[in-house]
Amino acid sequence: MSTPPPSADPVLSWHPPRLFFSARVGGRVRKVPLDAGFSCPNRDGTLSRAGCSFCNAEGSGTGLYAQGLGLAAQWAALLPRVLVKDPRARLLAYLQAYSNTHTSPERLRAVLDEVAVLPGVAGLCLGTRPDCLDLGAGEARLDVLGAFVGRGLPFIQLDLGLQSADDAVLARAGRGHDAACFAEAVRAAAARGLCVCAHLLHGLPGARPDDLARSVDFLNTLPVAAVKFHNLLICRGTALARLWEAGRFVPAGREDYAAALIEALERLRPDICVQRLIADPAPGELLAPAWTVDKYGALDCVRREMVRRNTWQGRLGFCPEGSPDWTLYYKEDG
Ligand code: SF4
Repeated sequence: MSTPPPSADPVLSWHPPRLFFSARVGGRVRKVPLDAGFSCPNRDGTLSRAGCSFCNAEGSGTGLYAQGLGLAAQWAALLPRVLVKDPRARLLAYLQAYSNTHTSPERLRAVLDEVAVLPGVAGLCLGTRPDCLDLGAGEARLDVLGAFVGRGLPFIQLDLGLQSADDAVLARAGRGHDAACFAEAVRAAAARGLCVCAHLLHGLPGARPDDLARSVDFLNTLPVAAVKFHNLLICRGTALARLWEAGRFVPAGREDYAAALIEALERLRPDICVQRLIADPAPGELLAPAWTVDKYGALDCVRREMVRRNTWQGRLGFCPEGSPDWTLYYKEDG
Protein backbone atom coordinates (compact mmCIF):
# COMPACT_ATOMS: atom_id res chain seq x y z
CA MET A 1 0.00 0.00 0.00
CA SER A 2 1.45 3.35 -1.03
CA THR A 3 1.87 5.98 1.62
CA PRO A 4 0.32 9.39 0.92
CA PRO A 5 2.54 11.92 -0.82
CA PRO A 6 4.38 14.45 1.30
CA SER A 7 3.14 18.01 1.09
CA ALA A 8 3.85 20.14 -1.97
CA ASP A 9 7.55 20.29 -2.64
CA PRO A 10 9.33 22.74 -4.95
CA VAL A 11 11.72 20.09 -6.17
CA LEU A 12 9.81 16.93 -6.82
CA SER A 13 6.28 15.99 -7.39
CA TRP A 14 4.59 13.27 -9.43
CA HIS A 15 1.67 14.84 -11.22
CA PRO A 16 1.65 14.75 -14.99
CA PRO A 17 3.65 17.58 -16.57
CA ARG A 18 1.42 20.64 -16.28
CA LEU A 19 3.10 23.24 -18.41
CA PHE A 20 4.02 20.80 -21.17
CA PHE A 21 0.43 19.83 -21.78
CA SER A 22 -1.01 23.25 -20.99
CA ALA A 23 1.08 24.75 -23.76
CA ARG A 24 -0.18 22.14 -26.19
CA VAL A 25 -3.83 21.54 -25.31
CA GLY A 26 -4.70 24.50 -23.12
CA GLY A 27 -5.02 23.04 -19.67
CA ARG A 28 -4.56 20.14 -17.30
CA VAL A 29 -4.95 16.77 -18.93
CA ARG A 30 -6.36 13.39 -18.08
CA LYS A 31 -5.67 10.38 -20.26
CA VAL A 32 -8.41 7.95 -21.19
CA PRO A 33 -6.95 4.51 -22.01
CA LEU A 34 -8.41 3.01 -25.17
CA ASP A 35 -7.94 -0.40 -26.73
CA ALA A 36 -8.10 -0.55 -30.54
CA GLY A 37 -7.41 -4.28 -30.65
CA PHE A 38 -3.87 -4.08 -32.00
CA SER A 39 -1.18 -6.62 -31.30
CA CYS A 40 2.58 -6.42 -31.45
CA PRO A 41 4.98 -7.77 -34.09
CA ASN A 42 7.10 -9.15 -31.28
CA ARG A 43 4.18 -11.27 -30.11
CA ASP A 44 2.07 -12.19 -33.12
CA GLY A 45 4.87 -13.88 -35.06
CA THR A 46 5.68 -11.02 -37.44
CA LEU A 47 9.05 -10.70 -35.71
CA SER A 48 8.74 -13.20 -32.89
CA ARG A 49 6.25 -14.85 -30.57
CA ALA A 50 8.40 -14.48 -27.49
CA GLY A 51 7.84 -10.79 -26.76
CA CYS A 52 10.35 -8.58 -24.99
CA SER A 53 11.88 -10.27 -21.95
CA PHE A 54 10.17 -7.86 -19.52
CA CYS A 55 6.75 -7.66 -21.19
CA ASN A 56 3.70 -9.19 -19.62
CA ALA A 57 1.23 -9.73 -22.48
CA GLU A 58 -1.66 -10.17 -20.04
CA GLY A 59 -0.98 -6.93 -18.21
CA SER A 60 -0.70 -4.69 -21.24
CA GLY A 61 -4.23 -3.95 -22.36
CA THR A 62 -7.74 -3.33 -21.04
CA GLY A 63 -9.14 -6.14 -23.19
CA LEU A 64 -12.25 -4.03 -23.89
CA TYR A 65 -11.89 -4.32 -27.65
CA ALA A 66 -11.91 -8.12 -27.42
CA GLN A 67 -15.10 -7.81 -25.36
CA GLY A 68 -16.75 -6.09 -28.31
CA LEU A 69 -16.49 -2.47 -27.15
CA GLY A 70 -15.51 -0.05 -29.93
CA LEU A 71 -13.57 3.12 -29.20
CA ALA A 72 -16.65 5.33 -28.80
CA ALA A 73 -18.21 2.86 -26.34
CA GLN A 74 -14.95 2.61 -24.35
CA TRP A 75 -14.73 6.40 -24.24
CA ALA A 76 -18.31 6.73 -23.04
CA ALA A 77 -17.77 4.06 -20.39
CA LEU A 78 -14.53 5.49 -19.02
CA LEU A 79 -15.25 9.20 -19.23
CA PRO A 80 -17.41 9.52 -16.09
CA ARG A 81 -14.63 7.96 -13.98
CA VAL A 82 -12.09 10.38 -15.41
CA LEU A 83 -14.24 13.49 -15.15
CA VAL A 84 -15.32 12.82 -11.59
CA LYS A 85 -11.66 13.27 -10.60
CA ASP A 86 -11.21 16.44 -12.60
CA PRO A 87 -14.28 17.85 -14.39
CA ARG A 88 -12.30 20.60 -16.11
CA ALA A 89 -9.48 18.44 -17.44
CA ARG A 90 -8.63 18.37 -21.11
CA LEU A 91 -8.99 14.80 -22.35
CA LEU A 92 -6.37 12.82 -24.20
CA ALA A 93 -7.20 9.50 -25.80
CA TYR A 94 -4.43 7.05 -24.94
CA LEU A 95 -3.80 4.08 -27.20
CA GLN A 96 -1.33 2.50 -24.83
CA ALA A 97 -1.21 -1.28 -25.04
CA TYR A 98 0.90 -3.15 -27.57
CA SER A 99 1.95 -1.46 -30.85
CA ASN A 100 -0.76 0.88 -32.03
CA THR A 101 0.60 1.34 -35.53
CA HIS A 102 1.04 -2.39 -36.14
CA THR A 103 -1.61 -2.38 -38.84
CA SER A 104 -2.24 -1.11 -42.36
CA PRO A 105 -2.26 2.64 -43.05
CA GLU A 106 -5.95 2.32 -43.93
CA ARG A 107 -6.89 0.73 -40.61
CA LEU A 108 -4.76 3.26 -38.73
CA ARG A 109 -6.55 6.10 -40.53
CA ALA A 110 -9.93 4.58 -39.63
CA VAL A 111 -8.93 4.39 -35.96
CA LEU A 112 -7.73 7.99 -35.95
CA ASP A 113 -10.95 9.09 -37.66
CA GLU A 114 -12.84 7.51 -34.75
CA VAL A 115 -10.59 9.09 -32.13
CA ALA A 116 -10.81 12.56 -33.68
CA VAL A 117 -14.59 12.72 -33.20
CA LEU A 118 -14.75 11.42 -29.62
CA PRO A 119 -16.69 14.00 -27.58
CA GLY A 120 -14.30 16.46 -25.94
CA VAL A 121 -11.09 14.82 -27.12
CA ALA A 122 -8.18 17.29 -27.05
CA GLY A 123 -5.46 15.05 -28.40
CA LEU A 124 -4.00 11.59 -28.64
CA CYS A 125 -1.13 9.70 -27.06
CA LEU A 126 -0.23 6.60 -29.01
CA GLY A 127 2.28 3.95 -28.02
CA THR A 128 4.15 2.01 -30.64
CA ARG A 129 7.49 0.56 -31.72
CA PRO A 130 9.92 2.45 -33.96
CA ASP A 131 9.87 -0.40 -36.49
CA CYS A 132 6.10 -0.11 -37.01
CA LEU A 133 6.18 3.16 -38.95
CA ASP A 134 7.24 2.09 -42.47
CA LEU A 135 10.69 3.61 -42.11
CA GLY A 136 12.63 3.20 -45.35
CA ALA A 137 9.47 2.07 -47.13
CA GLY A 138 7.51 5.23 -47.80
CA GLU A 139 6.67 5.98 -44.14
CA ALA A 140 2.98 5.62 -44.94
CA ARG A 141 1.83 5.11 -41.34
CA LEU A 142 3.80 8.15 -40.20
CA ASP A 143 2.11 10.14 -42.96
CA VAL A 144 -1.29 9.03 -41.67
CA LEU A 145 -0.40 10.17 -38.15
CA GLY A 146 1.11 13.44 -39.39
CA ALA A 147 -2.00 14.22 -41.42
CA PHE A 148 -4.07 14.30 -38.22
CA VAL A 149 -1.87 16.86 -36.44
CA GLY A 150 -3.95 20.03 -36.47
CA ARG A 151 -6.86 18.28 -38.16
CA GLY A 152 -9.22 17.14 -35.46
CA LEU A 153 -6.33 16.17 -33.20
CA PRO A 154 -4.31 19.29 -32.44
CA PHE A 155 -1.83 17.30 -30.40
CA ILE A 156 -0.46 13.83 -31.02
CA GLN A 157 2.19 12.31 -28.80
CA LEU A 158 3.98 9.24 -30.08
CA ASP A 159 5.13 7.13 -27.13
CA LEU A 160 8.11 5.27 -28.57
CA GLY A 161 9.94 2.54 -26.71
CA LEU A 162 13.71 2.70 -26.79
CA GLN A 163 14.41 1.17 -23.34
CA SER A 164 18.19 1.31 -23.85
CA ALA A 165 20.47 2.92 -26.41
CA ASP A 166 22.79 -0.11 -26.15
CA ASP A 167 22.10 -2.50 -29.03
CA ALA A 168 23.52 -5.46 -27.10
CA VAL A 169 21.05 -4.80 -24.27
CA LEU A 170 18.18 -4.46 -26.76
CA ALA A 171 19.14 -7.74 -28.43
CA ARG A 172 19.32 -9.56 -25.09
CA ALA A 173 15.88 -8.19 -24.17
CA GLY A 174 14.51 -9.50 -27.46
CA ARG A 175 13.36 -6.09 -28.63
CA GLY A 176 13.79 -6.80 -32.35
CA HIS A 177 14.98 -3.29 -33.24
CA ASP A 178 18.11 -1.27 -32.59
CA ALA A 179 18.84 2.27 -31.42
CA ALA A 180 19.42 3.51 -34.98
CA CYS A 181 15.88 2.47 -35.90
CA PHE A 182 14.58 4.47 -32.93
CA ALA A 183 16.59 7.55 -33.96
CA GLU A 184 15.28 7.38 -37.51
CA ALA A 185 11.71 7.07 -36.23
CA VAL A 186 12.10 10.06 -33.91
CA ARG A 187 13.44 12.30 -36.68
CA ALA A 188 10.73 11.24 -39.14
CA ALA A 189 7.97 11.68 -36.55
CA ALA A 190 9.16 15.08 -35.34
CA ALA A 191 9.41 16.30 -38.95
CA ARG A 192 5.66 15.65 -39.22
CA GLY A 193 4.79 17.65 -36.12
CA LEU A 194 4.38 14.62 -33.86
CA CYS A 195 5.56 15.05 -30.31
CA VAL A 196 7.84 12.11 -29.41
CA CYS A 197 7.98 10.75 -25.87
CA ALA A 198 10.77 8.20 -25.44
CA HIS A 199 10.52 5.35 -22.94
CA LEU A 200 13.64 4.24 -21.09
CA LEU A 201 14.03 1.24 -18.81
CA HIS A 202 16.67 0.94 -16.13
CA GLY A 203 18.35 -2.30 -15.16
CA LEU A 204 17.84 -4.71 -18.07
CA PRO A 205 20.09 -7.78 -18.02
CA GLY A 206 23.50 -7.00 -19.44
CA ALA A 207 23.11 -3.23 -19.04
CA ARG A 208 26.02 -1.24 -17.67
CA PRO A 209 25.46 0.67 -14.43
CA ASP A 210 25.33 3.94 -16.39
CA ASP A 211 23.07 2.59 -19.14
CA LEU A 212 20.23 4.98 -18.27
CA ALA A 213 22.53 8.02 -18.39
CA ARG A 214 24.07 6.85 -21.66
CA SER A 215 20.61 6.38 -23.12
CA VAL A 216 19.78 9.95 -22.07
CA ASP A 217 22.94 11.17 -23.84
CA PHE A 218 21.57 9.47 -26.95
CA LEU A 219 18.12 11.07 -26.54
CA ASN A 220 19.73 14.48 -26.14
CA THR A 221 20.91 14.28 -29.77
CA LEU A 222 17.39 13.71 -31.09
CA PRO A 223 14.24 15.86 -31.46
CA VAL A 224 12.61 14.17 -28.49
CA ALA A 225 10.05 16.28 -26.59
CA ALA A 226 9.48 14.08 -23.54
CA VAL A 227 10.71 10.99 -21.74
CA LYS A 228 9.24 8.41 -19.41
CA PHE A 229 11.65 6.64 -17.07
CA HIS A 230 10.85 3.16 -15.81
CA ASN A 231 12.46 0.93 -13.25
CA LEU A 232 12.50 -2.72 -14.33
CA LEU A 233 9.62 -4.78 -13.00
CA ILE A 234 9.62 -8.56 -12.82
CA CYS A 235 6.13 -9.45 -14.01
CA ARG A 236 4.37 -12.78 -14.06
CA GLY A 237 4.69 -14.84 -17.21
CA THR A 238 7.74 -13.06 -18.60
CA ALA A 239 11.15 -14.38 -19.59
CA LEU A 240 12.61 -12.17 -16.86
CA ALA A 241 10.35 -13.81 -14.29
CA ARG A 242 11.78 -17.20 -15.22
CA LEU A 243 15.31 -15.85 -14.81
CA TRP A 244 14.40 -14.28 -11.46
CA GLU A 245 12.68 -17.44 -10.22
CA ALA A 246 15.80 -19.41 -11.14
CA GLY A 247 17.88 -17.00 -9.08
CA ARG A 248 19.73 -15.78 -12.14
CA PHE A 249 18.60 -12.16 -12.08
CA VAL A 250 18.07 -9.59 -9.33
CA PRO A 251 16.27 -6.32 -10.11
CA ALA A 252 17.69 -2.99 -8.93
CA GLY A 253 16.99 -1.84 -5.39
CA ARG A 254 15.23 1.44 -4.68
CA GLU A 255 18.36 3.43 -3.80
CA ASP A 256 20.21 2.05 -6.84
CA TYR A 257 17.36 3.09 -9.09
CA ALA A 258 17.20 6.54 -7.52
CA ALA A 259 20.94 7.01 -8.07
CA ALA A 260 20.74 5.92 -11.72
CA LEU A 261 17.68 8.09 -12.30
CA ILE A 262 19.30 11.18 -10.81
CA GLU A 263 22.44 10.70 -12.88
CA ALA A 264 20.24 10.43 -15.97
CA LEU A 265 18.25 13.55 -15.00
CA GLU A 266 21.43 15.53 -14.45
CA ARG A 267 22.46 14.69 -18.02
CA LEU A 268 19.04 15.23 -19.60
CA ARG A 269 18.47 18.20 -21.91
CA PRO A 270 16.44 20.74 -19.90
CA ASP A 271 13.75 21.12 -22.57
CA ILE A 272 12.84 17.43 -22.51
CA CYS A 273 9.79 17.01 -20.34
CA VAL A 274 9.92 14.14 -17.85
CA GLN A 275 6.51 12.52 -17.84
CA ARG A 276 7.26 9.56 -15.59
CA LEU A 277 9.87 8.70 -12.97
CA ILE A 278 8.71 5.32 -11.68
CA ALA A 279 6.99 2.39 -13.38
CA ASP A 280 3.45 1.44 -12.38
CA PRO A 281 2.77 -2.30 -12.24
CA ALA A 282 -0.64 -3.47 -13.37
CA PRO A 283 -2.69 -5.03 -10.56
CA GLY A 284 -1.57 -8.58 -9.83
CA GLU A 285 1.33 -8.70 -12.28
CA LEU A 286 4.26 -7.76 -10.05
CA LEU A 287 6.62 -10.40 -8.66
CA ALA A 288 9.53 -8.11 -7.76
CA PRO A 289 10.96 -5.76 -6.65
CA ALA A 290 8.62 -5.17 -3.71
CA TRP A 291 9.72 -1.55 -3.22
CA THR A 292 8.06 -0.46 -6.44
CA VAL A 293 4.60 -0.99 -4.87
CA ASP A 294 5.26 2.07 -2.70
CA LYS A 295 5.49 4.58 -5.51
CA TYR A 296 5.30 7.63 -3.28
CA GLY A 297 8.03 6.26 -1.06
CA ALA A 298 10.23 5.72 -4.11
CA LEU A 299 9.55 9.22 -5.40
CA ASP A 300 10.34 10.64 -1.99
CA CYS A 301 13.63 8.72 -2.04
CA VAL A 302 14.51 10.42 -5.34
CA ARG A 303 13.42 13.80 -4.00
CA ARG A 304 15.48 13.52 -0.84
CA GLU A 305 18.55 12.43 -2.74
CA MET A 306 18.21 15.30 -5.22
CA VAL A 307 17.93 17.74 -2.35
CA ARG A 308 20.93 16.17 -0.60
CA ARG A 309 23.03 16.45 -3.76
CA ASN A 310 21.66 19.92 -4.57
CA THR A 311 21.13 18.88 -8.16
CA TRP A 312 18.64 19.34 -11.01
CA GLN A 313 17.78 18.30 -14.55
CA GLY A 314 20.51 19.28 -17.01
CA ARG A 315 23.06 20.21 -14.36
CA LEU A 316 25.78 18.30 -16.20
CA GLY A 317 26.47 19.98 -19.53
CA PHE A 318 23.41 22.19 -19.94
CA CYS A 319 22.73 24.42 -16.95
CA PRO A 320 25.62 23.94 -14.49
CA GLU A 321 24.94 27.26 -12.79
CA GLY A 322 21.51 26.15 -11.72
CA SER A 323 18.17 25.79 -13.32
CA PRO A 324 16.11 28.97 -13.45
CA ASP A 325 13.34 26.81 -12.15
CA TRP A 326 14.03 23.64 -10.26
CA THR A 327 10.60 22.46 -11.11
CA LEU A 328 11.64 22.58 -14.78
CA TYR A 329 11.45 18.89 -15.21
CA TYR A 330 8.19 18.81 -13.44
CA LYS A 331 6.38 20.88 -15.97
CA GLU A 332 3.51 19.57 -13.97
CA ASP A 333 -0.04 18.89 -14.72
CA GLY A 334 -2.28 18.63 -11.72
S1 SF4 B 1 7.06 -4.47 -24.66
FE1 SF4 B 1 5.90 -3.70 -26.42
S2 SF4 B 1 7.14 -4.32 -28.20
FE2 SF4 B 1 7.80 -5.62 -26.49
S3 SF4 B 1 6.52 -7.48 -26.64
FE3 SF4 B 1 5.51 -6.06 -25.22
S4 SF4 B 1 4.02 -4.95 -26.50
FE4 SF4 B 1 5.55 -5.89 -27.87
